[in-house]
Amino acid sequence: MELEHTQLVAEMIAPTGELVRTEIDVRVDPLTGHTSRILPNRGLMPPNDFDLEAFAQENEERCPFCPDRIERMTPKLPPAVHPEGRIMRGEAVLFPNLHAYGSHSCVSVYSPRLHYLPLARITESVMADNLSVQVQYAKAVMAAYPESRWSSINANHMLPSGSSLFHPHLQGLVDSTPTTIQRQLANVPAARFDEYLNTERRDGRRFLRNSGRVQWLVSFAPIAPAEIRAFVPGVASPAELGDELVAELARGLTITLGAYADMGYESFNLAMYGAPPATAGYPLNLRIACRSNLRPFYRSDSTFLERLHWEGAVDLVPEDLAERIRDRFRN
Ligand SMILES: [Zn+2]
Repeated sequence: MELEHTQLVAEMIAPTGELVRTEIDVRVDPLTGHTSRILPNRGLMPPNDFDLEAFAQENEERCPFCPDRIERMTPKLPPAVHPEGRIMRGEAVLFPNLHAYGSHSCVSVYSPRLHYLPLARITESVMADNLSVQVQYAKAVMAAYPESRWSSINANHMLPSGSSLFHPHLQGLVDSTPTTIQRQLANVPAARFDEYLNTERRDGRRFLRNSGRVQWLVSFAPIAPAEIRAFVPGVASPAELGDELVAELARGLTITLGAYADMGYESFNLAMYGAPPATAGYPLNLRIACRSNLRPFYRSDSTFLERLHWEGAVDLVPEDLAERIRDRFRN
């Protein structure tokens, strides 16, 4: 497979009078065809300098996901989905999203006591327990409502990512219809996924690791900064994940979040895009990417390009990102 890209060149006369040329690499995503602009480094994503811990203390008093309040202030699942009302594993607790985004829309906190959870402190077991309750939820919803077969596990982590609550959590959706990207990915022929993964493995510049059953790589045409993708051939839906695969995914995600923390990032989005269970040839896949850091007068990483043109524009070069974090995946 040829990974398509074209070069745009901007020319201008600098205030000093010299001619300045800027090259912009426009890349095409080989699966969905969306395009993304790789810009020279302009410091668009400055590292965190905000006192998150102090801010956490300020808003903790009113947080509905903290111990005691979680029991009183969060809703319960209907008995058809889960008779106990909330799904728990380890310290993770899952309950319906009070502000639903679909027919089955849930929230799961890593732990009621982890109101302040910087990325470097998310451990494999904390991540695995939270993914597990999401998997259990998807299974339970599909068993009770067989028409709801499109499941995804997602995260808005910290306010710049779209989270309205500070307390870290994942979000699950299970619906009878896919989202735009779920639909696009499910329409990709099975052979195209194989070709893409083979191409990236051979090329090597963005490939991170095959961790057993999961292939990890940096996106060729990222929608968002520092975007990493993973593919799980042989599994189509989060509802089909067993404990071993959950642990493997949790390990890769934790490695990624550790790398983000090292780079100075504290906010991210995650989407694990499920197709209906047993969809032949569809590999369950995910995207995870950084968002701007929280600070007064911060620059949002999501501009007219991303929101209204569906065009990525990042100044973190994918190959440099892979170089920077590959060792973590191999150790
Ligand atoms: Zn809290």
